[in-house]
Amino acid sequence: MRVLISGASIAGPVLAYWLTRFGHEVTVVERAPQPRKTGGHSVDLWRPALDIVERMGLLSAVRQRSITTERTLAYRPGVRRPASIDNTKIFTAVSDRHLEIMRDDLSEIFYDATRDTTEYVFADSLASISESGDVTFEHGRPRRFDLVIGADGLHSTVRRLAFGPESRFTDWVGAYLAVASVPRDMARDGVIIAHFDVGRTAMMYTAPHLQDARVLFLFRTERPLDYHHRDADRQKTLLREHFAGHVPRWLAELDQTPSFYFDSITQVRLDTWSRGRVALVGDAGLSPGPAIGASTSLAVLSAYVLAGQLAEAAGDHVRAYAAYQSELEEFVQRSRAFARGMAKTLLPSNRLGLSLLVNGTELATRLPSGMTRWLATLNSGGVRLFDTFPVRDYQPPTP
Ligand SMILES: Cc1cc2nc3c(=O)[nH]c(=O)nc-3n(C[C@H](O)[C@H](O)[C@H](O)COP(=O)(O)OP(=O)(O)OC[C@H]3O[C@@H](n4cnc5c(N)ncnc54)[C@H](O)[C@@H]3O)c2cc1C
Repeated sequence: MRVLISGASIAGPVLAYWLTRFGHEVTVVERAPQPRKTGGHSVDLWRPALDIVERMGLLSAVRQRSITTERTLAYRPGVRRPASIDNTKIFTAVSDRHLEIMRDDLSEIFYDATRDTTEYVFADSLASISESGDVTFEHGRPRRFDLVIGADGLHSTVRRLAFGPESRFTDWVGAYLAVASVPRDMARDGVIIAHFDVGRTAMMYTAPHLQDARVLFLFRTERPLDYHHRDADRQKTLLREHFAGHVPRWLAELDQTPSFYFDSITQVRLDTWSRGRVALVGDAGLSPGPAIGASTSLAVLSAYVLAGQLAEAAGDHVRAYAAYQSELEEFVQRSRAFARGMAKTLLPSNRLGLSLLVNGTELATRLPSGMTRWLATLNSGGVRLFDTFPVRDYQPPTP
């Protein structure tokens, strides 16, 4: 089958990899003029995503570019001594298999693994999709595909064209996320410097292979902010307003930062993840919210499951799309619930919550490893959730 994928970040290239491996002819269209190396921060790959990466033969490439932040020094207003949190202990407590990597490094690895077998079209976007699979582009000539898959993120064009306006399917969790690149010498290798406050948190870190350091800003607001998702100047102004009096040196870097990312922390909720020939993977269809859920792992997993179901259904997309959703739906719902809880924890609404977050985490990581792990396992619906999804092997029927 000829399959068109919109979006060449995480879900798109992973889907392209598995579809070509199952014998399909794949085209990926990406709005950016080249593979996006525009910053972003580190993303978590949990067990299911790492299992899939391993099956793609990319585990060592991913490991080589993974980052390790061993310790977090957590500051909060009015307290001079930072809490010292052992990150390694937290991650080993919550997962048997986990790795952190910069989003753009991961995207590049997936792109490199597929560029020879997939047709990539950069600097273009879909303009229309018909029921028969005829599509038009903003720039390129019209073409026909058997299937069209949206892997084009939270503000998916495919979702808008096939399902309707974004506002009908998105659910804002009351917070925002921004990432800025800052000079490397502001940070220390292996250490996250975090400044927590009521309703706002900023963290800075770097990694040995990075030429810069990254600052992650998270903040909560009462009402949605008024800005366009491509208007970086306005986004920086909003960020300065919300972090006024907090991390002034980091904010001062916003004027000259070479790369900046800003988005609302929004979940996507659709009753059905497909319509006709169109289906959605990754953030476009099932985002639990960037930075607070496991959106990157879900992007990898959803792409893999969709390709697998298409292979098992021998190209019967109606059957495959239904099986894809039913296999993942419950896990996605639980990820969303987890993400909402995470947003509340990371952005406490009062001083008590702030103190519990900083001191409680420090205390937990001071316990012997076995105890920290035991505490984590008590929370089976929460932090260990991402390890629990079994990754199937898909077998195309023999002709
Ligand atoms: C530049 C960037 C930086 C990010 N930084 C962070 C971060 O710091 N922290 C975090 O938690 N999450 C971040 N994210 C989101 C994170 O990558 C996703 O939550 C997750 O990895 C799911 O991946 P995805 O492939 O489904 O979607 P995304 O990673 O959002 O990728 C969507 C892709 O589709 C492309 N696209 C969008 N519209 C169109 C269109 N009309 N036609 C063709 N292509 C289109 C985009 O350019 C992008 O390459 C970032 C995303 C991007 C694009």
